[in-house]
Amino acid sequence: MGVNPTRDALRTDAAPAEALPAFAATLRQHGLPALTREAVTTLQINVGRLCNLACHHCHVEAGPRRTEIMPERVIDRLITLLDLNPTIASVDLTGGAPEMNPGFRRLVVEARRRHLRVIDRCNLTILLEPGYTDLPEFLAAQDVHLIASLPCYTAANVDRQRGLGVFDGSIEALKRLNALGYGRENSPRRLDLVYNPLGASLPPSQSALEVQYRAELGRLFGIEFHHLLTITNMPIKRFATQLAQTGQTDAYMSLLVNHFNPATVPGVMCRSLVSVGWDGELYDCDFNQMLDIPLGAAGSTAGSTGATTIWDIDAFDRLTGTGIATGQHCYGCTAGAGSSCSGALASVPHASGRSA
Ligand code: SF4
Ligand code: SF4
Repeated sequence: MGVNPTRDALRTDAAPAEALPAFAATLRQHGLPALTREAVTTLQINVGRLCNLACHHCHVEAGPRRTEIMPERVIDRLITLLDLNPTIASVDLTGGAPEMNPGFRRLVVEARRRHLRVIDRCNLTILLEPGYTDLPEFLAAQDVHLIASLPCYTAANVDRQRGLGVFDGSIEALKRLNALGYGRENSPRRLDLVYNPLGASLPPSQSALEVQYRAELGRLFGIEFHHLLTITNMPIKRFATQLAQTGQTDAYMSLLVNHFNPATVPGVMCRSLVSVGWDGELYDCDFNQMLDIPLGAAGSTAGSTGATTIWDIDAFDRLTGTGIATGQHCYGCTAGAGSSCSGALASVPHASGRSA
């Protein structure tokens, strides 16, 4: 048995994706303004697309053969920007497997030296790979907050999405992390897990699923963690290809649109973060980064700085009030309970009542 949400099943009579309302029009229909940025408190840094895994749903299309890796000079500039921007409280490291960037540890140490919260979006199995087995101790010593992918508590479901043997490796890595105090009750070593659906459905209730994960991982493996974050599969890149190949694009886009939830809009992550690409380009979020939609693409109506790289800007407060470039993929952040790098955005999913 495993996680098998059936609540929001795909409809076979879905409207063609191109006939669905534009995201911007849906915001207007609900009396909501176009998205603009508030104070930037998080720098989300994608340090490269290299990964030891190649998951079916990966919006980065990461894998062992990717060669895009953030060079030292970009990391140098980012450290300078941390000094220039006291409103930045969190550095959120993502990839690929961010730990595979040779500059990863330096970036962590420099951010922690500045008393910033550092998040490592970890796939767990990297902690067992040759050359990386000392990572758990390093991360613990630096008090890095781990947000780790585990799309189910059963081997079959995890291996189906992430590759053969990934579940067993993930469990072994979690046991090592627990042994260091990660995920233990009242421990400051934060360990959160991430669930994303195995296919073209919305995540179930985050709080209910957390209870289920805690019970099953505790019962089966004695594993503890702090919180479970549910994240919606974004209809871009590898998951979009999978949808197209299985003829589910229209149905999945209709599902997202029909479950648009205005209560999620104030919390979408692009309002408070800036996303940095491996080469120093700036974006409104990691998804826009993967779609090559640069910072400032929203145009000048809500104000624009003209900055598109980390060398164009010293103070991120210049971005406050500027427009965020949105598109149909934004329905992935705003459907049901919503989705962000911190999990769900609203506690009560809302169905708009639109028919597909
Ligand atoms: S989803 Fe994560 S672990 Fe899987 S290939 Fe992408 S970056 Fe790697
Ligand atoms: S995909 Fe999500 S985070 Fe990115 S711009 Fe759209 S709403 Fe914001």
